Amino acid sequence: MSDCLFCRIATGELPGDIVYEDEKMVVFRDIAPKAQVHLLAIPREHIESLNGLTEEHDALIAYMMRQLPVLAKAQGLESGFRTIINTGPGGGQVVFHLHIHLLGGTGLPGF
Ligand code: AMP
Repeated sequence: MSDCLFCRIATGELPGDIVYEDEKMVVFRDIAPKAQVHLLAIPREHIESLNGLTEEHDALIAYMMRQLPVLAKAQGLESGFRTIINTGPGGGQVVFHLHIHLLGGTGLPGF
């Protein structure tokens, strides 16, 4: 059994508000949303952070990036969205399974 929170959500071992999943990735709502829409997109494979990427992940990451606008449109974010990846403690990462924040709608602060 994994002790990684997001791995456990991906396998269904822990509850998550999943909006999309396939064989490569899982997308669920952030439990403490920072905007009207706040999704977390994760690879099924456990990768700690951007620091854990190797050349073998190139296709996976490209695939995930390509899904983001599709997911945003499905959430009604026609005018655009923001993506954030926090990396390491110094980057504000608190869950050490690579995840892409997808934010949009009302409540999105300036950056
Ligand atoms: P980060 O600071 O980039 O590591 O972001 C971790 C995110 O995970 C935060 O926005 C949290 O609100 C979110 N989070 C923590 N636990 C859960 C959970 N059980 N389900 C959904 N989102 C979570």
